[in-house]
Amino acid sequence: MKAINKYFLITLLLALSCKTAASDATDGFNLINVDEGIYAHIGRHLSIEDEQRDDIANIGFIIGDNCVAVIDTGGSIAVGKKLLKAMRSITEKPVCYVINTHIHYDHLLGNKAFVSKNTTFVGHKGLAEAVEHNRGFFLDQFKSELGDNPDPSAIIAPTKLITDKEELDLGDRTLTLISYPTSHSHNDLVILDNKTKTLWSGDLIFRERVPSLTGSLKGWVKVMEELQKLEVNKVIPGHGSIADSMPEAIKQQQAYLKLLLDETRKAVAEGLFVNDAMQTIDKDNRLNWLLHEYQHPTNVSRAFSELEWE
Ligand SMILES: [Zn+2]
Repeated sequence: MKAINKYFLITLLLALSCKTAASDATDGFNLINVDEGIYAHIGRHLSIEDEQRDDIANIGFIIGDNCVAVIDTGGSIAVGKKLLKAMRSITEKPVCYVINTHIHYDHLLGNKAFVSKNTTFVGHKGLAEAVEHNRGFFLDQFKSELGDNPDPSAIIAPTKLITDKEELDLGDRTLTLISYPTSHSHNDLVILDNKTKTLWSGDLIFRERVPSLTGSLKGWVKVMEELQKLEVNKVIPGHGSIADSMPEAIKQQQAYLKLLLDETRKAVAEGLFVNDAMQTIDKDNRLNWLLHEYQHPTNVSRAFSELEWE
């Protein structure tokens, strides 16, 4: 009887804790006032298999005197609408720009929520082409994130493309947008708010959640050197908590990129097969990343094919 009671109590506690998490998920849409006129929603650390995979990235907006720039729109039209609603509780100014930091679904599929005659969609010089290339994949793999009976028009591509570096004016507030060569992905772009020196890094910087490599490891290491030349105060990473300085923002990731580069090179030199490398390199997750088991072996595999023939 005692055992049954104990079991019942544990079940009850579990049910209650699940209920709290669920009500958070539907009602709570966190929004942090990072600095003057800068607001960020911090995404959850969930895997791509989770039902709430549409809300895993950091997204938000910057308010100027004339208009607002939205930076990334979440992994579904529904999350985009939540961001829009949260934004409208703070400002009624028009959205002049929606800026996507790169192609990944969690940063871009909410774009549709922001379509309006005043709004220009902006991205890396390679982003429009990447959207065309991925349209079918998104419709197939992220159907439920794109509304009822979605068609190709549910996915919005940028029309203003940044080749190298360009300033956008929001009215007494300029943003510097910089496009980088292949690194985390093939189309990464960062946004620097010149007023507060806040850097919105997209997925060039991950914190807490294990980085996801889809471009080039050596390219990423190089781009990190470039990022460190920028004059920056706060950093809003693509995933994870906001940092008060660049060194703080990149500490964990720099150690990871080095580990991945050194140990994959060593595995290649020792003649290991890719599957052995995936199973052995950093098996114990030395840097304590979240979701390491989901993404890290894929990172090793990508690094291995890049370093195999160098
Ligand atoms: Zn992301």
